[in-house]
Amino acid sequence: MESDKKTFAPRSLDTEVQYLKGVGPRLADILAKIGIKTVRDVLFYLPRRYEDRSHLPAIADIRPGQWVTVKGRITDLDSKSTRAGMVILKATISDRTGDLTLVWFNQPWVTRKLKGYEGEVIAYGYVKDVHFDMEMHAPEYELLDEDDDPEAFARIVPVYPLSEGVSQFVVRRAVASALERYLEYVEDPYPNDYLRKLKLRPLRWSLSQIHRPDSEEFRLEARKRLVFDEFFYFQVFLALKRLETQVETGISFPIQAMGKELTEQLHKVFPFELTGAQKRVIKEIWNDMERPHPMNRLVQGDVGSGKTAIAAAAMLAAVRSGFQAAMMAPTEILAEQHYNNLHRLFEPLGINVVLLVGKQTAKQKAAHKQRVVEGSVDIAIGTHALIQENVEFKKLGLAIVDEQHRFGVMQRAALQSKGFGNPDVLVMTATPIPRSLTLTLYGDLDLSVIDEMPPGRKPIKTHWKLLHERAQVYKGVRKLIEEGRQAYFVCPMVSESEKMLAQAAEELHLRLSKMVFNDLRVGLLHGQMKPKDKEEVMEQFRRHELDILVSTTVIEVGVDVPNASVMVIEDANRFGLSQLHQLRGRVGRGNYQSYCLLIADAKSDEARERLDALVGSTDGFNISEIDLRLRGPGEMYGTKQSGNLDFKLADLIKDGALLEVARQAAFDLVRDDPQLVRYPDIRKKAVESRPESQIVTVS
Ligand code: ADP
Ligand code: MG
Repeated sequence: MESDKKTFAPRSLDTEVQYLKGVGPRLADILAKIGIKTVRDVLFYLPRRYEDRSHLPAIADIRPGQWVTVKGRITDLDSKSTRAGMVILKATISDRTGDLTLVWFNQPWVTRKLKGYEGEVIAYGYVKDVHFDMEMHAPEYELLDEDDDPEAFARIVPVYPLSEGVSQFVVRRAVASALERYLEYVEDPYPNDYLRKLKLRPLRWSLSQIHRPDSEEFRLEARKRLVFDEFFYFQVFLALKRLETQVETGISFPIQAMGKELTEQLHKVFPFELTGAQKRVIKEIWNDMERPHPMNRLVQGDVGSGKTAIAAAAMLAAVRSGFQAAMMAPTEILAEQHYNNLHRLFEPLGINVVLLVGKQTAKQKAAHKQRVVEGSVDIAIGTHALIQENVEFKKLGLAIVDEQHRFGVMQRAALQSKGFGNPDVLVMTATPIPRSLTLTLYGDLDLSVIDEMPPGRKPIKTHWKLLHERAQVYKGVRKLIEEGRQAYFVCPMVSESEKMLAQAAEELHLRLSKMVFNDLRVGLLHGQMKPKDKEEVMEQFRRHELDILVSTTVIEVGVDVPNASVMVIEDANRFGLSQLHQLRGRVGRGNYQSYCLLIADAKSDEARERLDALVGSTDGFNISEIDLRLRGPGEMYGTKQSGNLDFKLADLIKDGALLEVARQAAFDLVRDDPQLVRYPDIRKKAVESRPESQIVTVS
């Protein structure tokens, strides 16, 4: 650490904030309330927004409805108590062109500050028109002392996030002092050529400009550097983490050695020709499996893109190499569907598949587990009970997690800590989340994207109908059923409670089966039914013994009935956008033209935007971007998963392009210098960047 000869204490960013000029112990206690303890904390405490005071308008030019900064002298001060016990302070300020009244409610300390004050006041706030007078309620304000430099106010001023008892003044003073005395001690961990190459400003300059921008342009450049840093350190962290798994010992499946035979068997398994995208992804997976390190790959593909075939190809390779494979689905219905499909496909090849789900009898389960542990079955399919219920494998080589988003962030570690050894892990998701989110949530995984649909699919036609158009919707559904198709009806999302949902589904079922479609076969499916009954209904629908299936969102994930070509969603405005897209993915899985009919009277702009988005696009990635913009990452992914998404400045939507640059730079850096011996500061920051995010439980 360098020391400054003029002072006793060495100058360091770890210096307690009380030693800053103009702060002292009393203000330091106040700053501690917002988490500021050291000089570093001050420098990195970033403004929430800015006020442009570089053009202070004359009061005469101000209009109601504007957010403005004004300057004037107090010409009248009046404090009143109402009968309800409220204290209202009104201060009229004037700049000789006009008057404006500042109003505060129940803030007696403001009265004390303003009383007898004769200098100028600066105030910032929203201008209201109250009985033809302009008022500003609860404005931010500052008193301009006579000896203050008026120039200092005529600039872009930072506004910091505060909490009770901390004023802008205190923070601004600490920041000004820290910038003045300590900025030169901020180290920039990036070499100069690096900054030039990436067109980034130095850190010192950026900190100074983010707090006290000389222009909007400079502020944006400063922000860019700081956003880059946030992304970069986290991506370095992910790159290091990925490197770790890449040097661990795993299984090397002898795929090359099996050569053509494996490919031929694969072709025999499917009744269709694989799409180009499926072939490419299978190759990526097989390459991973061949390597002597554990695979950690995420397969992203929109609903209906054919992920099951991908899973089958991976499992085939594992089994033919003499290992077992496990596949987990988020619901029992889905696990059973996978079991039925894979059992049918694999049995002719002499590959044994077993199903393990919660509803089986203890005896059944014990028998199945026994077969898994002794190795007489090759593939086990189940819900996440597979990892919870002490299932032991004889020789597990591959674990597949389907529809990963429904598990929460599924912990790969949980799989491995179950004494499964070090199997290859494949994670599949149909939630086509924006790439920026993928790189953040799953940034340590290798990524395969299925960007092509099986041939012959006609894009689903989506229509938004108002409540009074319901009869017309029902007529359309009837016509399709007469042509031999089947329909899904999704009941309104009345609440999160399974019980209430079940009731809503029962009501809809009653109405449709007894009245509207009393001549048709209408089934019911909801989460409160016994597993056996659920299975029975699904099976009936699959065998076309039902024309209509009324359901809650239990059909959201994965269910595959190609003859179903229409989906009606009641009260569609109550569902999230991504969820609606998932639901819609249940149709359009065969060769028939399919329809999704959204019934809703959207009341808010947001609801309208959501429904319009769905009508206008069938591209899941596009839809998820809109969803992210409308709801934000926390809401979309739940707090548990949004830990990785907590950025101070960065915005995953607006800064997506910069994230790509940061990721590339981070991965290049770690590739060239895997231990980061030349960049110890970067390494340190990277490791600190997300201390807890990796501890996530399975939900
Ligand atoms: P996902 O799990 O990605 O939503 P599925 O694996 O359930 O999709 O596949 C959807 C449907 O498409 C299934 O009926 C499947 O048999 C069919 N399918 C998958 N791949 C192809 C292909 N290459 N050609 C034709 N049909 C396919
Ligand atoms: Mg699927």
